[in-house]
Amino acid sequence: MDAREEALRRAYGHATRWLSSLDDRPVPARAPVDEIVRALGTALPDGPSSPADVVDLLATACEPGLTAFPGGRFYGFVIGGTEPAALAADWLVSAWDRNCVMRAVSPAYAAVEDVAGSWLLDLLGLPGDSAVGFTTGATMANFTCLAAGRDAVLRRAGRDVARDGLAGGPAVRVLVGEDRHITVDLALRYLGLGRPEPVASDGEGRIVPEALRSALAAGGRIPTIVVLQAGDIHTGAFDPFVETVRAARAADAWVHVDGAFGLWAAASPRYAHLTAGCADADSWATDAHKTLNVPYDCGLAIVRDPSTVRASMGLQGDYLIQDEYGDPIDKVPELSRRGRAFTVWAALRSLGRSGVADLVERLCRHARAFGTGIAGIDGASVLNDVVFTQVCAGFGSDERTDGVLARLLADGTVWISGSSWRGRRVMRISVSNWSTTDEDVTRALGAIRRASAG
Ligand SMILES: *Cc1c(COP(=O)(O)O)cnc(C)c1O
Repeated sequence: MDAREEALRRAYGHATRWLSSLDDRPVPARAPVDEIVRALGTALPDGPSSPADVVDLLATACEPGLTAFPGGRFYGFVIGGTEPAALAADWLVSAWDRNCVMRAVSPAYAAVEDVAGSWLLDLLGLPGDSAVGFTTGATMANFTCLAAGRDAVLRRAGRDVARDGLAGGPAVRVLVGEDRHITVDLALRYLGLGRPEPVASDGEGRIVPEALRSALAAGGRIPTIVVLQAGDIHTGAFDPFVETVRAARAADAWVHVDGAFGLWAAASPRYAHLTAGCADADSWATDAHKTLNVPYDCGLAIVRDPSTVRASMGLQGDYLIQDEYGDPIDKVPELSRRGRAFTVWAALRSLGRSGVADLVERLCRHARAFGTGIAGIDGASVLNDVVFTQVCAGFGSDERTDGVLARLLADGTVWISGSSWRGRRVMRISVSNWSTTDEDVTRALGAIRRASAG
């Protein structure tokens, strides 16, 4: 057996042992950073080692420092796990080592990106001829879509940003809900647009249509972008798209929707109503590594008019071999990049339409079970309307809530983090892993009950 094959066999063994440990292992990492550093060793070796030994060292040194993100009892942030077909496809992506820039050089990638892109538009209920770009995550998807939006609204005001830049040009207003995700602000920083103007949101974090209408009216005819949200990270709430998109369009604004995990509601007949009106926007950002459960990393930048994103992100070079129908690079910021569409295609091909709907509905059902279970715990209260995958809970005073969170983490049955919502400390639960079972939720509720009794 050659050295490469032996290294792959070792990696396979470590991977399958790790995956089968997920059902029972404690969710938090057992070892801190400095311990892992010691186990890895800090001296750069003077010479080569066998690939198989390197894989063994990496796997054994890192194992205690691995948080069980892909298991069914991790409910922090919004993380997602990995569907089996997507994980296996990801191994092939590494073996194939594609550069996914041009159709002519990587026809397999371009074909998969085309097919996966059209399936995504179908499932998410978005216009079928939109451009679908595969980015690192929703942060870069927000960036890509907002770049297209910035350049489009400035073009309408007579400014060619690609040629003349931003300095000395017209101002751009960006209106966002008070509870937009922090990465929207980050994307606007990358884009030289500065801090956005927050518009009031309601108790669930949904932008208030009347407040948006008055903000739009106050702006006159200044080039404007409106950023809406499908899925608030605290409450899971969706902005009321029908009214807000109509108002923004009437003001000639570019409408962008950050739907990092929530846009997937559209793929379920039971939850699609949450996204009603969303498809009338100009651009949408979402993640495949969250709700769809493909491995990190994969976001999706979807733009209704492909010519706008191509104007902002397209690239010409004498040494490239470019296709008249557009290339994968025309929809994303990078030149060289990983073949992210392969894993998305595999997840969608494996789940099918009904499997994606089941996945979304299962996550929501588990979130409701958390809501009901927590509401039954003495001194605990659920603070949001559990419409999707997110649950926010309080345990009396802020100190008590933080105490419950600390005891919960020490217990190790689950991983759930805290946050602040509407002026108080909360426990924030996010259900985003395909493999979470009813039994996992029962175990998690037991741990929360123990932590709150402590
Ligand atoms: C996670 C998230 C993002 C950022 O996505 P990344 O994939 O981490 O870059 C943006 N918006 C919302 C609503 C999110 O939940």
